[in-house]
This record gives sequence, structure tokens and C-alpha cells, in this order.
Amino acid sequence: MNLACFPRRGYVQEATPLEFLPAFSKALDNKVNIWIKRDDLLPGAGGGNKTRKLDFSIADALAQGADTIITCGAVQSNHCRLTLSWAVKEGLECHLVLEERVPGSYKPEASGNNFLYQLLGVSSISVVPGGSDMAAEMEKKAEMLRREGRKPYIVPGGASNPVGALGYVQCAQELMQQMFAQGLNFDHIIVPSGSAGTHAGFLLGLLGCHMDIPVTGIGVNRKKPVQEEAVYSLMRKTAEYMGVAMDIPREAVLAYDDYVGPGYSLPTDAMVEAVKLLARTESILLDPVYSGKAMSGLIDLVRKDHFKKGANLLFLHTGGSPALYAYLDSFRQAS
Ligand SMILES: *Cc1c(COP(=O)(O)O)cnc(C)c1O
Repeated sequence: MNLACFPRRGYVQEATPLEFLPAFSKALDNKVNIWIKRDDLLPGAGGGNKTRKLDFSIADALAQGADTIITCGAVQSNHCRLTLSWAVKEGLECHLVLEERVPGSYKPEASGNNFLYQLLGVSSISVVPGGSDMAAEMEKKAEMLRREGRKPYIVPGGASNPVGALGYVQCAQELMQQMFAQGLNFDHIIVPSGSAGTHAGFLLGLLGCHMDIPVTGIGVNRKKPVQEEAVYSLMRKTAEYMGVAMDIPREAVLAYDDYVGPGYSLPTDAMVEAVKLLARTESILLDPVYSGKAMSGLIDLVRKDHFKKGANLLFLHTGGSPALYAYLDSFRQAS
């Protein structure tokens, strides 16, 4: 799959580190060997997976002559923080539409990503109730800005459209080269699955390289069949956008919903355990909403002997640690 024909800004200059986790593997009784791909260390204020996608999304915006970016997310959205971060670098205005998925959860004075929206100089924040039609809300904002003479470009939630998903097709290609260079092979890859662009792009990229490694998505929001359909549909659209004719096996798409807990962004005990365990064994920070819950899934699957003894697992660390500072109470309650 040739990514060179799509415009991008060059935000990702180097491969993110691939690290073995000896102490974390040992804490899980050395049943499996666990590796991590450090996409939390991608550039952009605070780091994280959206930088790979925005590399393509912002290039598309500039190609269309935009001077203003509009995007949306939850109240503690890493995607909003990184979109704003890259807009700042490019000298573009950035407007955020935040969905209050948990009623009463938006607090202008909140820490975490919300604090960073202010620090990075966001142009405006509009808060809308959970369940709002976010595309329509962003279009409303775009229309207002057009009337003021601006040229807005809308990046969808999570940059999870075919343009953004290219960033994770690229990640799969990068991983393939790293595995070869380092003489590594993986039996399973575990990825967080949210707005689906990461999971979809990554799996499509692996299949496009004929890399036959099973990918397990850990959902953070939707029910299994709904999430799997979202991933599968985005894979097909992305392949079409890239102009590649590919048979995408539906059964390659797997996204468990067992680790969501009471709902999106709501803490679970298993998430708190996962965040603490990785911090105290490997000094790597996860986040409460995505990578922490995804890691709680990996831990549970290892404990249940879901993977063959001695298997090599790779966990894709998508970032998000700035959100930890908005969840202090969840971590203080448990020691
Ligand atoms: C957005 C996000 C994800 C999920 O990626 P999607 O492409 O939305 O599925 C995972 N981890 C973190 C930290 C994120 O911010």
C-alpha cells in the first residue's frame, strides 16, 4: 500500500520505540512476553496516537486552503488536545465542540486535557449534551465561521475517517520494518478501540502487508458487534480511499466490550490496577479512558490463559496520560 501519494505534514519523523517489558511480564507470572509500542511518545503536546492521523488530516485541511480547524471530542479529549496542538504549530485557529457524555462532567476549571486546551490557546469551546449529533454541531460552528470570512475544515471525532486512518496504516508498515530490523515476531497485538481509526488503519495496514498477526481490539465504549462493524466499515472505506482492491475478512475484526465497565470514561478497578501496575513495574504512564482499560483487558486475558504460554504479545500504547490529572480521586481512593 503506497502512502507516498497522500499529502502529509511530516509530524512523525521517527519510528516510536518498541520496548520489552520484563518486570511487567514477570508481574503476570511470565506466562507471556509483553512488548509495548510507544505511540504515547509521538510528538505534539502531551503525545499520543492522534498525531499519526493528524499528520494526514491537517495536510488535507491545508491542501483545501483552510485557515481554521474545527473538531470534537469528549470533555477530556486527547484528540482535541492534539488537534489544537498541531493547529497552533501550523498557525491555524482551532475551535472545539465538546460532548458532555457524562452529564455535569464539563468543568471549565478542570485539570488534565481541559487545562491544556486553555494553555494552548484554544479559539473557542462549545459544550453540547451527550448524544448530540456532533457532525451537525460542528457544521453549525463552521457555518458561523464562514459568515465571519474564515475557511474552516472539520476533522471528525478522533480523526477517524479514511484520511486519518492512513496514519495507522503507516504505523503497521513501520512496525513491520522494526520487527524485521530487531529480529522480533509477535503472536498477538492488542490495541485500544475507540472511534475506530487506530484499530481500523492498523489492521488494514497489517493485512495490506500480508502480516498475518491476530489483532485484539479492546473497546472502551460501544458493544462488541457495533464496535466491530465500525472498525470493519472504516477499513473498507479506507481501502477504497487508497484505491486498493482488497478482500477484508470480517472475522479478522475483534473488539471485546468486557472492559468498558459502567461506561465510556468512567473508571473501573481493573483500569486503576493496570495503570498502577505498569507505572510501578516499568515507569510507563497509561491513561484512565483508553490505554488503561485496554491494558486491563490484556491483563485479564493473560490471567485467563487466553494466549498460548510463552507467546509474544505487543501492546499498542496510544497515549493519553495527561487525562490522569483529571482523575486524581480514582487513584487516591485505591492505594
Ligand atoms: C483516541 C484514543 C484512542 C482510541 O483511538 P481511536 O482511533 O479513537 O479508536 C486510544 N487511546 C488514546 C489515548 C486516545 O486518545
